[in-house]
Amino acid sequence: MQNISTYDFSGKKAMVRVDFNVPLNDKFEITDETRINAAIPTIKQIIKNGGAAIIMSHLGRPKGEASEEFSLKHILKALSQKLEVEVKFVSDCIGEGVSKAALELKSGEVLLLENLRFYNEETKGDPAFAKKLADLADVYVNDAFGTAHRAHASTAIIASYFNEEKMFGFVIEDELEAVKQVIEKNERPFTAIMGGAKISDKILLIEQMLDKVDNLIVGGGMSYTFFKALGGNVGSSLVEEDKLNLAKTILDLAKEKNVNLCLPADSVISSEFSNSANQATEENTNISDGWMGLDIGPKAIEDFSEIIMKSKTIMWNGPMGVFEMSSFENGTKSIAEAISRATKNGAYSLIGGGDSAAAITKFNLTNEVSYISTGGGALLEFLEGKELPGIKAIMD
Ligand code: AMP
Repeated sequence: MQNISTYDFSGKKAMVRVDFNVPLNDKFEITDETRINAAIPTIKQIIKNGGAAIIMSHLGRPKGEASEEFSLKHILKALSQKLEVEVKFVSDCIGEGVSKAALELKSGEVLLLENLRFYNEETKGDPAFAKKLADLADVYVNDAFGTAHRAHASTAIIASYFNEEKMFGFVIEDELEAVKQVIEKNERPFTAIMGGAKISDKILLIEQMLDKVDNLIVGGGMSYTFFKALGGNVGSSLVEEDKLNLAKTILDLAKEKNVNLCLPADSVISSEFSNSANQATEENTNISDGWMGLDIGPKAIEDFSEIIMKSKTIMWNGPMGVFEMSSFENGTKSIAEAISRATKNGAYSLIGGGDSAAAITKFNLTNEVSYISTGGGALLEFLEGKELPGIKAIMD
């Protein structure tokens, strides 16, 4: 395994797996360029160092068939502008035309290949397909953290064809460092904040966190399953009826492990799942029939903020309520603000992908936290302690 900061790319062709799976509107314009921006430092490092970069990615779910809708040519212009280099493009990712374009590529140049998922071999992790990709270059750089939990041809299988000539890009390096800060180097008190819709999606992470943290704050839709398990009345709030026993087990485990598991004291409730329906604040053990909790209430915000402010390590995954609707965003916003204040006071804060990252962006706090992960599912699996194929393939 090599290091991107010190590797000499001069005269080398580098195969770079990035995550350009960006959202496009119906005119094929990019509506969020975050993922492209994230990959720029890695590509620049290669070309500035005298290398040539061959870029590969997936986009959407084309299910093994070429289509205009999922073509990576839609991102060519933005990529060229950001790199300040005229990026070349081939309308395939393997085959004669691609081999020729790769062969002709000169030092300092960048070639973008077409969507890898136009071939089912990519997601199947087909070794022959991976070898065809590998044959285009001298060195392999993986910078796609968002797909590192998949054993796909371009994210994992390809690495075996490069012996020592493989490395992580800056995105993955940063992700690994952020997780290390939280899981290994953590300063106490360590607080995990979990939210979102369901316990079932995050059970492994909750269990893992119980072995590591001092405080586990639970908010959002998943908290009502805990209240129901405790015998409370939660009205028509989101509840996973088949997870009531699991919720009880988690509460018992927290006690056994001496973890302060904090549930929200109150909720902002509504008569409908709607931004403009009737609203009130109610204690969580006493929500009337016909009402549902859609955000944490003022007392919960106060309790949670106090714990967060005293913490030195913070991991946040999942919103405190239906933050997409302005009537129910206050809890998520307040928690994001508490995390940013704690960070200013010296805490390390990791924001775990997906909705929490979207919330931090919505409330303009992107520069106020220590690290925002780019990988939703990949980060969860990594924090759960699972070995990610894309990481292992480089380290082996
Ligand atoms: P997840 O993907 O599990 O992190 O869940 C995120 C989703 O949970 C967001 O779209 C939120 O709108 C939703 N959510 C958070 N709190 C609640 C709640 N109290 N009731 C229903 N949905 C919620």
